Amino acid sequence: MAHEGKKSVAIVGAGLAGTSAALGFTDAGHDVTLYSDRDRESLRDKVPPTGVGVLFGKPREWDAEIIDDLYEVGNTTGISVRLHSGSGDDRADVLEFNPDYGYVAQAVDLRLRADDRLERFLDRGGRFEVASVDVDRLDEIAGAHDLTLVATGKGGLSALFPVNESRSHYREPQRKLLQVTLTGLDHGPGSFAYRSSAGGDHSLFNLDSENGEVFVGPFLHKDAGATWSFIVFAKPEGAWAPKVDEVTDASSARQAIVDIFTEYFPADASVIEQLRIIESDPVSWLKGAVTPTVRHAVATTRGGHPVAAIGDTAIAVDPVAGQGAANTLIQVAELVKAAKEHDGAFTEDWLEAEFEKHWERRGRAAVEVTRLYLGDPDYATHLELSFPAAAVDTNIAAALFGLLSDPNPLLTLETRDDVLAFITAVAGEPADDVLGRFEPAGRFASATEPAAVS
Ligand SMILES: Cc1cc2nc3c(=O)[nH]c(=O)nc-3n(C[C@H](O)[C@H](O)[C@H](O)COP(=O)(O)OP(=O)(O)OC[C@H]3O[C@@H](n4cnc5c(N)ncnc54)[C@H](O)[C@@H]3O)c2cc1C
Repeated sequence: MAHEGKKSVAIVGAGLAGTSAALGFTDAGHDVTLYSDRDRESLRDKVPPTGVGVLFGKPREWDAEIIDDLYEVGNTTGISVRLHSGSGDDRADVLEFNPDYGYVAQAVDLRLRADDRLERFLDRGGRFEVASVDVDRLDEIAGAHDLTLVATGKGGLSALFPVNESRSHYREPQRKLLQVTLTGLDHGPGSFAYRSSAGGDHSLFNLDSENGEVFVGPFLHKDAGATWSFIVFAKPEGAWAPKVDEVTDASSARQAIVDIFTEYFPADASVIEQLRIIESDPVSWLKGAVTPTVRHAVATTRGGHPVAAIGDTAIAVDPVAGQGAANTLIQVAELVKAAKEHDGAFTEDWLEAEFEKHWERRGRAAVEVTRLYLGDPDYATHLELSFPAAAVDTNIAAALFGLLSDPNPLLTLETRDDVLAFITAVAGEPADDVLGRFEPAGRFASATEPAAVS
């Protein structure tokens, strides 16, 4: 329990959520023990990062409450988007836009982010115990601490927290995911310059209506430094899904990416082919799928002690809108502040009230913006209007990607008229005029030229 008036905090799991909470609660004056099923070296060097973890804009403000910004590489200012539709002879280039976000997005290896947090936590006297925690051990831990947080990711101890059916919209994954980091191309202005004048300051997002999406972005790898991170979001019934299934290592992950670009995005293929795997990091790749799930984030152990879920254990979203790490950091930073201001015990009611605040502050909007980017039928009207409008007016494109930084405005756009009013307000002219000027691309400008190679 508490020592010298401090409150004791136990955190289980040392990913982004656990290490952020460990550092945050230590700096807030608490007595913290972090339990991890892997030692520090293993966390940093023996497992893939859980995701790419791009922090789009505003979540970085919450991150700055936990740790200084240590990273100069992997910062981007916008995105180059291309949408293709149809298949076979009917496949067409539909639209493109290249907005500056109006904020900075930061893509840093989550293993590096977690290790930097862990290092500071240890330097400041935090206790780190290497142990796989099961439900019996969790009961003991929760009985011995004032506050116990479970940060074991999507698996681990998450089953302790029942699924909140009314907040979980899907029962199965919406995409098969393939993530890999590749090297061999710098982040300079020449990289992907044929896509936009921003070159390596912008990420790429290629959408294919039949098969899924591919995100390509400048990335800070923990050892290799300036690299490029790829995520393939393959629709389960599309042609990319079997390619993802067949991946078994970094080389086959790279090959799957090269194959997808060669067949579906040939304008980019000659650049993608230059990229190589990171030989020193055989676990620089990951495949899998996320069933988007919101859980009841407070549970009680067998001995009657309340425990609270943070990070992916509480809310797991498909990564297509880059909300998971963001959600995690906001939840942790706000919980640290709330705990500091709280005088009494960390009861079940208090923990539940704090999670509800998180849900209203960010969680719900993060879930909804993910549904928007997944192309959920509930958002068909939003997409049908906003994508063509974004192709006509770059301010609308920026507003669309502004929702990754702060997704809450999406909650106010319920009807077709709401979306039209939003377009009108952002464009400064009637939405119908904007949409009236939209013409399908037919063929993207650079697709007629050989791709420039940096
Ligand atoms: C392909 C992909 C791309 C992504 N891209 C983005 C993005 O661009 N932006 C964004 O915001 N989010 C993104 N995400 C989401 C983001 O990566 C996650 O939300 C975040 O990393 C979750 O961190 P976590 O600490 O909750 O979980 P984890 O990283 O899973 O950490 C859990 C830890 O707990 C440990 N553990 C498990 N069980 C036990 C146990 N019983 N005892 C002790 N320890 C245990 C595990 O070993 C692990 O170290 C992406 C996710 C994926 C899959």
